[in-house]
Amino acid sequence: MTNNAAQIRVAIIGSGPSGFYAADHLLKQRESKIYVDMFERLPTPFGLVRGGVAPDHAKIKSVTKLYSRIASHERFRFFGNIEFGTVVSRFDLSEHYHGIIYAVGAQTDRKLGIPGEDLPNSYAATEFVGWYNGHPDYHDYDFDLSGIKRVAVIGVGNVAMDVARILARTPEELYGTDIAGYALETLRHSDVEEITIMGRRGPAQAAFTNPEIKELGEMADADIIVDCENASLDELSATHLKKARDRSAIRNVKILQSYVDRGLTGKSRRIVMRFLVSPNEIIGTDKVEAMKIVMNELYLDENGNLRPRATSEYETLPIDMIFRSVGYRGVPLRDVPFYDRWGTIPNADGRVLTRHEGRERLTGNYVVGWIKRGPSGIIGTNKPDAIETANCFLEDLLNGDVLQPLDTRDESIVEMVRMRKPTFISFDEWKILDDIELRRGAESGRSRVKFTTVEEMLEALGKVPEMAGAGK
Ligand code: NAP
Repeated sequence: MTNNAAQIRVAIIGSGPSGFYAADHLLKQRESKIYVDMFERLPTPFGLVRGGVAPDHAKIKSVTKLYSRIASHERFRFFGNIEFGTVVSRFDLSEHYHGIIYAVGAQTDRKLGIPGEDLPNSYAATEFVGWYNGHPDYHDYDFDLSGIKRVAVIGVGNVAMDVARILARTPEELYGTDIAGYALETLRHSDVEEITIMGRRGPAQAAFTNPEIKELGEMADADIIVDCENASLDELSATHLKKARDRSAIRNVKILQSYVDRGLTGKSRRIVMRFLVSPNEIIGTDKVEAMKIVMNELYLDENGNLRPRATSEYETLPIDMIFRSVGYRGVPLRDVPFYDRWGTIPNADGRVLTRHEGRERLTGNYVVGWIKRGPSGIIGTNKPDAIETANCFLEDLLNGDVLQPLDTRDESIVEMVRMRKPTFISFDEWKILDDIELRRGAESGRSRVKFTTVEEMLEALGKVPEMAGAGK
């Protein structure tokens, strides 16, 4: 076994924005030539940019061009269809890499914790998002929207905006996008008339950003309804907003207030915004039929934050389907520390710690993105986050405080992967899939027609489970 000491190797687990930004920073270093291998559970790269960003936000998705450029670097390799924790373990990777960077995002959703939450037709927004984006994990979901008239979306973040917008769009608006073909068909037969978006705090505390709330007022066939009560500020919020000079929140409130006088304009669907309400119970015998909500008021907590508090005023709304959109949540990785309360890997500036609030490090292990800081920020937020972590690795490398792999040869890693999973996917193979998707899109007047199962991806590449994957 040869050990080429000049080859510094880093494994990145996950291929979303934070993983690519970390790869980019490492590959750019002039002093040390770092080799980066990216391992991805799915055959396809780009994480939430492919499986999360809404199909009608094509401009945001175009960031994949940059990631593809990073992937074309001669010291970068992609191992798709390889799950960390089952196919390769932390101990396997420690034998080949000086550093391991976890960039796995937040793969599940937070729950409301109220009665009736598990009734049929009560879903996590993340499930709906994965489904309409053709994510293989959600391909088998059946969001039958025929006969569904009233939908409630709980939470007022950008994911809630995405869900409401996709439900309210016409098939014509969605046709040219890369939305999954089956989702387009289901939405074509949707009977949804009203989508109510509910925030537990007031309009000044909404988590959505200005372009997203503005977009809801520009839908082809859906009116936005904000009544005076829901657009006005309570005294605490008004004072807080003035003091904090939060320009985004001020603008959000202005946009909401501009909707008050609009009323109905004869469009087929309505998007209703409600604030200071929380779901209390989801009611139904064998599926969602109604939702009991409680009116909230705001109070100032000991940290100076405005928090919601339930009053004794309730209301019951007839509802046919519910999407909870109250945030993503990280899931633990095998043999990697996890802080359950926050759903993150405990870390100091990206260096993995053996426990939250501890000081002991898991040498050579690093973390970036949502699994480092929690599910917040836009795609660009991941760049400084990833650079911070990559710099920690570079500093540790200088100090010799990284993993000491036994075998860093190029081929030994490929051999290990090939032995464990012959159907791994290289970046060149992903590019073949990408070309097919784009070609199928061009043939049908759509931006892309996605593969939505792993089987059809492997089939398109002429791979059967016994077959070996190709090199880079
Ligand atoms: P988010 O921005 O954190 O919003 C979560 C929402 O859920 C907040 O309104 C929060 O209200 C509410 N919530 C939490 N717990 C609740 C409960 N028990 N009951 C009722 N409401 C509750 O999360 P997200 O929408 O999942 O988005 C995740 C990140 O991705 C965000 O940074 C977002 O901006 C980003 N993203 C960006 C885009 C885009 O740029 N177009 C698109 C999608 C997502 P409180 O504020 O009261 O806690």
